[in-house]
Amino acid sequence: MEQLEQKLIMKLKSHFLDIIDIENGLLHFDEILISMLHLVKEVTGAMDASYFSMNEWNKQLFMEASTIKDKKPSVIPPSLSDLDCQRTVLRQELPGFEEYTIILLLKKNEQSQGCIALKGDNELFIRFSDDVLDKISEECARFLHTARYFVKTILEERRYKQLYRVTEKFHSSMNMDDVLGEIICTLQEVYPTFTYYLLLSHDNNKLEDLPIKDLEYDSENIAAMQAYVTGVPQFEDSLREKKSVLYAPLKGKQGVYGVLQVIAPNTIVFPNNEVEFITLLANTAGTALENAQLYQQSKRFIKDLQLINETSHRLNSNLRLTETMAFITEQITQSFDAEEVGFILFSKDYKELKVLQGSTDFFQQIEARPYIDFIKEKVEADEEALFIGDFNLVGDDDNKPACYKSIMAVPMTQSGVLKGIALVMHQSPYHFSFETFKLLQSLVHHSTLAVTNSMLREELEKMVVTDHLTKLFSRSYLDDKIHQSMNEDHEGTFMMIDIDNFKLINDTFGHQVGDDVIIQVAELINANIRGSDIGARWGGEELAIYLPGVSLPAGLVIAERLVKRVAESTKPQVTISCGVSHWNRGRYDSYSTLFRRADRALYIAKQTGKNKVVVQEQNEDSK
Ligand code: GH3
Ligand code: MG
Ligand code: MG
Repeated sequence: MEQLEQKLIMKLKSHFLDIIDIENGLLHFDEILISMLHLVKEVTGAMDASYFSMNEWNKQLFMEASTIKDKKPSVIPPSLSDLDCQRTVLRQELPGFEEYTIILLLKKNEQSQGCIALKGDNELFIRFSDDVLDKISEECARFLHTARYFVKTILEERRYKQLYRVTEKFHSSMNMDDVLGEIICTLQEVYPTFTYYLLLSHDNNKLEDLPIKDLEYDSENIAAMQAYVTGVPQFEDSLREKKSVLYAPLKGKQGVYGVLQVIAPNTIVFPNNEVEFITLLANTAGTALENAQLYQQSKRFIKDLQLINETSHRLNSNLRLTETMAFITEQITQSFDAEEVGFILFSKDYKELKVLQGSTDFFQQIEARPYIDFIKEKVEADEEALFIGDFNLVGDDDNKPACYKSIMAVPMTQSGVLKGIALVMHQSPYHFSFETFKLLQSLVHHSTLAVTNSMLREELEKMVVTDHLTKLFSRSYLDDKIHQSMNEDHEGTFMMIDIDNFKLINDTFGHQVGDDVIIQVAELINANIRGSDIGARWGGEELAIYLPGVSLPAGLVIAERLVKRVAESTKPQVTISCGVSHWNRGRYDSYSTLFRRADRALYIAKQTGKNKVVVQEQNEDSK
């Protein structure tokens, strides 16, 4: 090679280095290619330099870039028998390349990758030896290869950084919606020209601003369904629409949570290196979705368990049956968003029904009967819980339309015997989820024993006159005696007593000591009243005294004395609050108003500092 030609090659090589401008981020392959062509044009003095790349499959040459702006890209059919020769420099005219003077083949491992076609004066090119043109094409081939590699590496680095950032974000969020939004956001950043859809099998109608479609079995979406079912990415290439579609499953460890549809426009085959990245992103998203779903599920489980736990706890404390039922009703109404909750017990022969106190009022009305009768018959026959989404669609046709359409019914069984049913209803159809139904079942299973026990206890209590822990009278005995006195005497004083902060005693010293304290207070009560007075255990740590024929001032002296003595002589020390009410023949009164006044007084005593006596003379509603 002549010295001049060697200089030319040196110039070319040094300028190549300038083109790859890493610091300024000039790393778009198209721009690099054009810069290279300009350089070749400059050093050879050509009028135009165009680059044609070769399609590996059909060996067609496609014009990718040219130094002439907006030149119409052309496709040149395989004429490779000529091109694939030993030579690199072709000076003769070739079909498709009529406008060019000279063609430099760019080879890699002896395979043609494409070519640079130069246009110019024939005279001009004669000046160049084959050697130097050979060298130019060799340098260009090497340069393009390196540039491609650079661009790919930098691009990949950027993408994987993005993937890393996204993964971090995914795992910091336990919210499915956030995860889905983040996938789309990332893809839009990385491939702004592609179009995306999330095909999800669950209803996600909350996410209006995300491109979400339902994943359905329809003929158009065979590839999507295939991806969903097999968990393997699927492709759909449309020659006609000049687009290529990738369906990447959002795959976690336990299943596939949806499919990501990516549409690449203007390509016939989905770009291979993008498939890997998108698949990775889809898998990461799948895992994140799975985590979020498991998290939400476990949160729901915890909430369910808390509900069951709280309910069982309440059932096991010494509540009256009515209070217990009212509590369960309230829990179900709130947790399940139910409108009506009823507990219906059957008599031994199943002929009679009893709606338990504490059920919602609807069940006491005649309108409830058709529901109860229908459900009772079903449950008796199948001995299974019922989950009805739309009551109108069940049962006989001539039934008039039902007001309550969503119905859940769970049999209350104890030791294999059907005792009754729990009924939960709502007017809207399909109001309850199946999960709610399952939760109701376990709630009812947990409560049935407590409910029947509670009923048994109340029956027993009625028969027993003294409380076995305190040796005070039982509540039912007290009730009877008050009724009797209100019929026979002129007046009487009633007081309800509740130990202050008793939970603390239990928590600090244990239940045994707690029991002992109740006994101590009971003994103080007995020591402070006469034989005709009735000291009773109302329930738990609540006690009561009825003084037949005793005036309010006299009753108050007794109450005050008792409060003082309890504070002085209990060990560990406790105090009591006392609510007092009084009746006399002078006004109309009843057992229940007498009780309510005392209860109200006790409430006020508790609210205003405890360790005291409060009297309530007026009925609440007569104020
Ligand atoms: P307050 O001053 O408002 O009455 O507070 P308190 O802590 O006493 O609250 P509350 O009256 O609501 O709770 C009473 C507690 O007493 C609840 C229950 O665990 C406990 N308890 C009820 N019956 C018995 C019993 O027979 N023995 C023992 N050891 N504890 C009981
Ligand atoms: Mg108390
Ligand atoms: Mg209490």
